[in-house]
Amino acid sequence: MGGFKVPTSIQTPDEEAKHRLNRIIDQDRDKLIESVQELVRIRSVKGDPKPSSPFGEGPAKALDKALEIAKDLGFRAANLDGYIGYAEHGSGEDYVAVLGHLDVVPEGDGWEHPPYSAEIHEGKIYGRGTTDDKGPAIAALYALKALRDSGLPISKKVRVMFGTDEESDNADVSYYLKREKPPFTGFTPDAFYPLVYAEKGIINFDIFRDLFEKTSGVEIHNIRGGVAANMVPDLAEAEFTNSDVDGLIRSCIEFADKTGYDIKAEKLGDSVVIKSIGVAAHGSTPEEGKNAIMQLMSFLGTLPLDDSSDISKAIYSINKMVDMETDGSSMGLALEDKPSGKLSLNLGLVNMTDEKIIFTINLRYPVTFEFDDVINPLKQIIKDHGFWVENLKNHNPLYFPVNSPLVKTLLNVFNEHTGSEEKPLAIGGGTYAKEMPNIVAFGPIFPGEPMVEHKPNEYIKIDELVLSTKIYADALYQLAK
Ligand SMILES: [Zn+2]
Repeated sequence: MGGFKVPTSIQTPDEEAKHRLNRIIDQDRDKLIESVQELVRIRSVKGDPKPSSPFGEGPAKALDKALEIAKDLGFRAANLDGYIGYAEHGSGEDYVAVLGHLDVVPEGDGWEHPPYSAEIHEGKIYGRGTTDDKGPAIAALYALKALRDSGLPISKKVRVMFGTDEESDNADVSYYLKREKPPFTGFTPDAFYPLVYAEKGIINFDIFRDLFEKTSGVEIHNIRGGVAANMVPDLAEAEFTNSDVDGLIRSCIEFADKTGYDIKAEKLGDSVVIKSIGVAAHGSTPEEGKNAIMQLMSFLGTLPLDDSSDISKAIYSINKMVDMETDGSSMGLALEDKPSGKLSLNLGLVNMTDEKIIFTINLRYPVTFEFDDVINPLKQIIKDHGFWVENLKNHNPLYFPVNSPLVKTLLNVFNEHTGSEEKPLAIGGGTYAKEMPNIVAFGPIFPGEPMVEHKPNEYIKIDELVLSTKIYADALYQLAK
């Protein structure tokens, strides 16, 4: 026995593969950062379509740049007419996919560092798209590079894909699926770690009521509020001409006192404008906001309106159907399940014209329910209240059982790399995983980190960018080996 040395730790083949990939990624750190910066400097907000740039110039330029980076790294790359593109490695019919996106939402105001200069401060790259989703998309590309350079054997092809219409209609993915077969398995790096195994179904629709009969007494000229169906509105306004201007102002003050709502009346020449201020939040978590439109409706419901007028009927009905609720219970939609919780309802927009009043609703239903479970009771109650439905769009829920191979593999990889014991997540939904078959959302937001996407001062921490690259490389290896 003398002289025989027992190793203190034995590496499994998987651990050895992980270390090999990690070493390559550490060497590529500077190039990875530079590539992310190059892409962030392109303002890829959706614009007017042109030939070969179906979502406007910005997204098309970003796609060209990403594919140029991929080619410089030595990959085969393809551009599907400006809709979507990919870099790939390996051979075979089946492929593992990572699907990120290069389009961004508009920058908005309130930036400390310019939104498209990709400045680095205190270990963070700042800019629109750093986290959502250019950073993670480029992390996936460098993960593929590490996998190739490592020489680790894989049995399937791997494709890193760059979409350009994620923030709007996902027309990039529909275009792709008409031309290419869907991936065998994979992920989209565009939500949370450890991973998302359940995404609620989403229904967007307008309900409207015709306004034939004008109201007498209080004359409402205009009602408007909200910016998007999937945002809790933080501002709504109604404009009046009224013989009793002072009475209206008094009612508003009393109502604000009683309810605590931020709502006030301002005199504007002959008319009065009622302004309701709420708290904005994402449409998937309406309970975290305060709906300015519904505050306003609630106030309007207390006024002595002419009961026979269409506008007063509309106000009465919307208060009965929605009120300040965010779970749809008054619409007969109190659905709930174990994996994903309660249905959520957000009334995001209101618009009044001479002919009609239109409300836009964003509704997210639990993953074990079907479209019909929601739409049948919904249509009935809307009809009972004299409203009509239009512009309805449904996205079915996404649900992978917790013990499915994809969920188990990704969860394992994440927990291994971070030394944690996280459980998979269910969310209100809305990632590419709903559109592209056989994938789930995997990263890039680490547990406990703030959500910076769609906000001013969006950033990605460089250490997290590098860690994500390592996690994605290992995940690709595990899925493709
Ligand atoms: Zn995104």
